[in-house]
Amino acid sequence: MSKRKKTVAILGSTGSVGRQSLKVIERFPDLFTIYGLTCYRNVDLLALQVKEHNPKLAVVADHHFLPKLKSQAQGTEVLSGMEGILELVSRPEVDLVINALVGSVGALPTIRAVENGKDVALANKESLVMAGEIIMPLAGRRRAKIIPVDSEHSAIHQCLRAGRKGEIKRIILTASGGPFWKNPGHLREGITKEEALTHPTWRMGEKITIDSATLMNKGLEVIEAHWLFSLPPSQIQVLIHPQSVVHSLVEFIDGSVIAQLAPPDMEIPIQYALSLPQRFPRVKPGLDLVQLGNLNFYPPPKKGFPCLNLAYKALEEGGTMPAVLNGANEVAVEAFLEGKIELPDIAKIVEGVMDLHQPSLHPDWEGIWEAHKWAQKEGRLIIEERAKG
Ligand code: MG
Repeated sequence: MSKRKKTVAILGSTGSVGRQSLKVIERFPDLFTIYGLTCYRNVDLLALQVKEHNPKLAVVADHHFLPKLKSQAQGTEVLSGMEGILELVSRPEVDLVINALVGSVGALPTIRAVENGKDVALANKESLVMAGEIIMPLAGRRRAKIIPVDSEHSAIHQCLRAGRKGEIKRIILTASGGPFWKNPGHLREGITKEEALTHPTWRMGEKITIDSATLMNKGLEVIEAHWLFSLPPSQIQVLIHPQSVVHSLVEFIDGSVIAQLAPPDMEIPIQYALSLPQRFPRVKPGLDLVQLGNLNFYPPPKKGFPCLNLAYKALEEGGTMPAVLNGANEVAVEAFLEGKIELPDIAKIVEGVMDLHQPSLHPDWEGIWEAHKWAQKEGRLIIEERAKG
């Protein structure tokens, strides 16, 4: 069997999901070849990855670091900025884009990749939160696949292979709940950055770990699931599952519930996205069900975690509102990490900005980006006022 290797571009290859993607790809050298890698500023690591994987193109998002990358990655074409990333995802040689960028900057590269007919393994949830209404129909027209890498959505993708679209009763996204869910009173003022960054089951970047502690991460995932699986909010539910072993479930109309279980290891959803429609063997140990003992499920706490409801509200209102939710949350999380606000203030800031927004329906990308920038500006104003008051 002589099959051409799949040519892959990894956006955000120096981040947590990016590094794990490279690890998975290294195990299958006969199947994949790396065409391009990108980083934000971590040029030292990017240069090491370039040495090892010999891509055609390397991109650093921050222009200031281009000279450094040039000197460290000699022999490889190097570019910088969003233009560089968009150039990479437009190259005809690229078959698959792994989008592991963090935050709203990840959305435009997804749109551009899909416009160019590339399949996208999507770890950047902001793409669909902000622009799902644009991306999904575009992917349909360009015959580009959007393959979820987010563990919950990967789980649902797998469960859905057990039935037809019309046979779905509901999908259930599981949430670890982060460190504070058991006692909403614990989502209190005075929680330090270090306490909030101690996630019980997953090792992830800082932004998503804070989002897990406030349950905003699950809210963003509800919006992501809405677009990926084309289901109304009423058919998307959330349960707290502290063990992070059942990654999500689908209930079908006949009462059968199909779940996907696996160790909490992002290499599994990454590898699934790369191997589809096949499955490749796992080299590390699998689940030890006996060792696991109990698996528990709880309804999300009714009090103390407003971010989940704010996300449902943004989804119901639609248009530019989810982008506003996300934009305000980004600046609020940043302010928390900088010690400027308390953890419970994040939800207050997001709600304050949403209250000021009149969503426009069916926006184009420019309209979405404008709403996003507006939400960030309004969010910063509220943060400044709180700092003064
Ligand atoms: Mg997730």
